[in-house]
Amino acid sequence: MSSAAEVVDRLGALRERLSRAGGDHVKVVAVTKGFGPETVAAAMEAGLADLGENYAQDLLAKATELPARPGVSHQPRWHFIGRLQRNKIRKIAGLVHLWQSVDRPELATEIARRAPGARVLVQVDVAGIGGRGGCPPDDTAELVGRCREEGLEVAGLMAVGAPGTPAQVRPGFRLLASQAHDLGLVELSMGMTADIEVAVEEGATMVRVGTALFGPRPS
Ligand SMILES: *Cc1c(COP(=O)(O)O)cnc(C)c1O
Repeated sequence: MSSAAEVVDRLGALRERLSRAGGDHVKVVAVTKGFGPETVAAAMEAGLADLGENYAQDLLAKATELPARPGVSHQPRWHFIGRLQRNKIRKIAGLVHLWQSVDRPELATEIARRAPGARVLVQVDVAGIGGRGGCPPDDTAELVGRCREEGLEVAGLMAVGAPGTPAQVRPGFRLLASQAHDLGLVELSMGMTADIEVAVEEGATMVRVGTALFGPRPS
């Protein structure tokens, strides 16, 4: 568990990393997965408001059990960033600010049914390794179109980078940026603790960071 002071320090270091890569204005989504409500409270106290979770039940629990913090007046904005199961959408529909992991048409339909007009990102499997979610890059345009037909607001694209060196992760981020550009989409959610520099260099508007803010996740 991290104190708010520790999170403030780490956030300063993270902002410096982003700045050196040219990302002064990049939005930080603080990934609280694996940590308890105290960490969420510490993040909020440190001034973070965009929070990411991978599991519906965890998002639900943390959003509803968030301890009150004296002096913290802003509300969290919850980002759903994990593999999304269709049958879990209903439970969290009223809580999610941005659905970042829409990777198949059934999810678009169900989100539109439970949260009409919701903001979403289409997740693309740019690494081509499967298992971490995302539609095949060849399907991106069609899925974006489908989301729009369902009345969802498609803000942009999201991806998890390929594991490995910057040279190995860069082509995937570059592909995501070029697809977003071609589709006229503004938001690019890419980059995590290990690869934010490459992501920012390739045009990320939003990075999703856990470890660099909160330390290693408890197992
Ligand atoms: C866990 C996770 C992150 C954050 O990872 P860190 O390496 O801890 O920064 C970002 N995005 C997704 C989709 C994740 O599952």
